[in-house]
Amino acid sequence: MKKIDGNAISREIIEELKIDVANLEGPKPCVAFIRVGEDPASVVYVNKKKKIAEEIGIESRLILLDDKISESDLICEVDRLNNDSSVHGFLIQTPLPNHINDTIILNRVNPEKDIDGFSYANLGRLCQENPDSFIACTPAGIIEILQRTNVKTEGKHVVIIGRSLIVGKPCSLLFLRRHLMGNATVTVCHSKTADLASITKQADILIAAIGKPNFVTVDMVKKNAVIIDVGINRIKDDSKKSGYRLVGDVDFLNVEPVVDKITPVPGGVGPMTVAMLMSNTVKAYKNSRN
Ligand code: NAD
Repeated sequence: MKKIDGNAISREIIEELKIDVANLEGPKPCVAFIRVGEDPASVVYVNKKKKIAEEIGIESRLILLDDKISESDLICEVDRLNNDSSVHGFLIQTPLPNHINDTIILNRVNPEKDIDGFSYANLGRLCQENPDSFIACTPAGIIEILQRTNVKTEGKHVVIIGRSLIVGKPCSLLFLRRHLMGNATVTVCHSKTADLASITKQADILIAAIGKPNFVTVDMVKKNAVIIDVGINRIKDDSKKSGYRLVGDVDFLNVEPVVDKITPVPGGVGPMTVAMLMSNTVKAYKNSRN
């Protein structure tokens, strides 16, 4: 099938995790979410993560903090969870208020509980191809999508547009690994890349993580390529009750007819991110018991 169903793949993973968790002996895995302030998207994302955790049988705790919290008080909250042996994994939902340095906070998380995989320890482990690393959930979800739809990466040219720490950079490291879903030739493009289309047209697998609606047009892709659209962009749509709809970074309507496989937005990469977060939580739990 040309259109990849991320909802179905993520559901498959959630069902597998439910069985896995049901078969665990002893206390259940426990995940905690720190949310600072009332950013509307963060409220939605954290609630969704909590709901899925509970569905799987993972205990979940929500720590709500005022957006005026000082950086040092937030560090204390992180340390409290680092030291709480009943919590196996946790995350701090971003974006954080401007007066807080994200990097300091994310690096403070105990690497063994860092289910988002954003700490330098886990990014370093990924670089070293250490299987103990917690891999950032969106890149991990992309690999899972490719694996479960039988897309091979070895010897392929993977082009990634975007060099962020949460998508582009970890993706590039994953595809470079000497691994079943690695062994690719990887090119990373970004806002300063010259003649972007000449590079994206060489991609057997094209990953778009830019944050610009319909940025990748049909003249930028190779025939029969596999396209993974990570972008989530709101565009005005008066026909919707909300007044907007979500589109990806790829001009889906025109690109879909010429490619082999493509993820839609919504319903592609998005749902995979939560599934991989839960998978990381179960991994953290199992590691803590060994
Ligand atoms: P970011 O803003 O940190 O990075 C965007 C990247 O795009 C940058 O590296 C930049 O160099 C590149 N870029 C910008 N303009 C460009 C241009 N004209 N040509 C080439 N490259 C250009 O964004 P991010 O956090 O990586 O997120 C990217 C998109 O993915 C956003 O829409 C975000 O909402 C979405 N996202 C989705 C998920 C998910 O679960 N599906 C997770 C994370 C991010």
